[in-house]
Amino acid sequence: MPQLCSKEKKLKRSIVRLAGIPLYIHWSFWLLIIWIVISNVRKGTDAVHIGWSLVFIALIFVCVVLHELGHALTARRFGIGTKSIVLLPIGGVANIEKIPDNPKQELWITVMGPAVNLLLALILFPFIHADITNAAQLEELAIVSSRTLVFNVFAVNVFMLLFNLIPAFPMDGGRILRATAAFFTSWKKATRIATIVGNLIAVVFIVAGVLNMNLMLSLIGLFVIFAAQSELRYATTKSVLEHFKVKDALITNYYQLSSHDPLNEAARLLLSTQSKKFVVIDQGSPAGIIGHEQIIKALAEGNAAAPVSAYMQTNLSKTEAEESLQKVYDQLMRSEESTMIVETNGQFAGIIDLENIRELIALQAGNNG
Ligand SMILES: [Zn+2]
Repeated sequence: MPQLCSKEKKLKRSIVRLAGIPLYIHWSFWLLIIWIVISNVRKGTDAVHIGWSLVFIALIFVCVVLHELGHALTARRFGIGTKSIVLLPIGGVANIEKIPDNPKQELWITVMGPAVNLLLALILFPFIHADITNAAQLEELAIVSSRTLVFNVFAVNVFMLLFNLIPAFPMDGGRILRATAAFFTSWKKATRIATIVGNLIAVVFIVAGVLNMNLMLSLIGLFVIFAAQSELRYATTKSVLEHFKVKDALITNYYQLSSHDPLNEAARLLLSTQSKKFVVIDQGSPAGIIGHEQIIKALAEGNAAAPVSAYMQTNLSKTEAEESLQKVYDQLMRSEESTMIVETNGQFAGIIDLENIRELIALQAGNNG
């Protein structure tokens, strides 16, 4: 599934880069693998067959990655980068840098994931040497061996195709539904429609899971409800921010320090004001920002007398006061930093901070009920 990337501060090192995109494996992906091995052992499968199961798992892994590359490479065609691909037990996630405003592009990016599974299934189909219409044989086929491997990889692709077409976020089907609805109505309304359908499906999953004592099904249902909430929140944010520019959330009332000021001066400001971040000015222009974290670090290292310039954050990103607030919000969400320097015609005008943008979103959302 393609997903908007969120702040990924402590992702472990990627195992490999594919087409320049780092690939990460979420710890819970290994749970799926352990579950497959355990269920095989419980069925009394011998070592040779468990070996085949591991080959099968590796192939599932390849199919999931190809599915995500389907999304990522289509996004790239529209000039949208992918920060990472993460493998989860319910599939993979391609963290794309932004959801395109054009529903046609969202539709293409989303459809190309399941399309990869369809293609793989079509390629594998002629190589299945078994009668898959015979129910008695199907049970035998479920045991992975040299004879049934192709069938099992085929079945996984059919499953991935169908599962991803369920019209509920975070599955691709949810995005396909939203993008299709967005041809007829606003993006925000289309998101609302898709979340309502998603929630109805989630309820069916949860109830069916409880009735059939299938914990996995209930969990997927809960997961779908959370995903719908987060999509709706993002759509609200996006629709609020569209109407604003950076200057509307510009912070002009901030505390300044000079780069020669000692850190205990910064610590004094931290205690005597409600600000947690201070702009460090050097010869009239901003040289950096020093915040709560850096001040605490400096004091812990016993450097209260050192100049703030030794601990401040430098290399701050800059933006223009006339820039779209939506664009800057997306940039800040993706980056490690939460503050940017704002300029008007090349002159320092103030700072913009993620927390302030969130305040603006909350105020506007409050106003609009
Ligand atoms: Zn997908």
